Amino acid sequence: SFPPEVVPQAPEDPLFGLMRAYKADPSPNKVDLGIGAYRDDNAKPWVLPVVKKADEILRNDPEANHEYLPIAGLAALLGKAAELLLGPSSPAIAEKRVASVQTISGTGAVHLGALFLARFYQIQGVNRTVYLSDPTWANHHQIFTNVGLPIATYPYFSKETKGLDFEGMKAALASAPDGSIILLHACAHNPTGVDPTPEQWREIASLMKAKHHFPFFDTAYQGFASGDLDRDAGAIRLFADEGFELVIAQSFAKNFGLYGERAGCFHYIASPSLSSAELTARVSSQLAILQRSEISNPPIYGARIASIVLNDPTLFAEWQDNLRTMSGRIRDMRTKLRAKLEELGTPGRWNHITDQIGMFSFTGLTEAQVLKLRSDYHIYMTKNGRISMAGLNSKNVDYVASAVDKVVR
Ligand code: PLP
Repeated sequence: SFPPEVVPQAPEDPLFGLMRAYKADPSPNKVDLGIGAYRDDNAKPWVLPVVKKADEILRNDPEANHEYLPIAGLAALLGKAAELLLGPSSPAIAEKRVASVQTISGTGAVHLGALFLARFYQIQGVNRTVYLSDPTWANHHQIFTNVGLPIATYPYFSKETKGLDFEGMKAALASAPDGSIILLHACAHNPTGVDPTPEQWREIASLMKAKHHFPFFDTAYQGFASGDLDRDAGAIRLFADEGFELVIAQSFAKNFGLYGERAGCFHYIASPSLSSAELTARVSSQLAILQRSEISNPPIYGARIASIVLNDPTLFAEWQDNLRTMSGRIRDMRTKLRAKLEELGTPGRWNHITDQIGMFSFTGLTEAQVLKLRSDYHIYMTKNGRISMAGLNSKNVDYVASAVDKVVR
């Protein structure tokens, strides 16, 4: 059997604990700023209109059935998913340097990539440490540790400016051993909402090239951050254009609102060389073996929905419109929250609320202030002061601002 010294009681995932506490709170004023899922102005989940249309098409398709997908997933999705990241005129796609596998959303993609690197990433001197931003999506730590890859961190967030600690980040990348694996959030960094500027990305790329570092992009918010799919893929395209060999974990959870359907892809991109198509085929064959032992075949429903939209120009245009609706509402909430705090004269500077981008904002609130917001005002956020912007709406933003004002004073 499994005695407690061997299998101790594990702590509850903090985010899910927070969700439970929120649900149990009977206050009519309660506000959920914890959950990383989009909510509309009525604090309700939003099924994207374009997803409803794709669902209708799927339900009326006489050919649709519940057979297994191939091990690599839905072919009609894979190519379009790569194109979405790399652009329609990508040389990597034209030169068959991309190996793509459908995964269990972004989490599964990060996991498959981690597993692949744990098995195959070798470099002289055998440095295989994965460098994660400090802070990062908490699951990164667990996923890479689970496959036995050592992890380290690079500075990312400046507590002073509540922006990027660019000097700290560069210094860490420069002093990491050559060939280190560097995990990068493609856009809308979770949990800080802080992204490098295009110029800073160029510096990061040239530094990483000089150090032969291996980029591992995690992209969970393409189109959701700026409302522009191409712009949110800018960092990935820069690295691909620079000829990096790299991997990408891609989630369709947020940008399609397909959270529970677990739609996503993992992509390997070889750097340009005479043998890159052959190398890509080898990588692809090994990814299939790993996939087989992990999940056999990826789930079909969300993949079909995403694929219907990505393959139909009219639906694609409508999707872009839906993305602008979500990102626009979030930007609007950022503006309103900042304006209200400034109007109240809340101590401190609040420009970071609008400087940051995407689902989350690192407010700079202390743990004590976070707990006071929860106990006295029924406002729920993670202890690190991260708020999900999607939890704000026109009805609660003033209430949240005045509560923050009170706990900060
Ligand atoms: N990576 C980051 C940075 C995330 O924020 C998330 C979701 O919160 C994911 C990956 C994966 O999400 P999912 O597995 O739901 O696609």
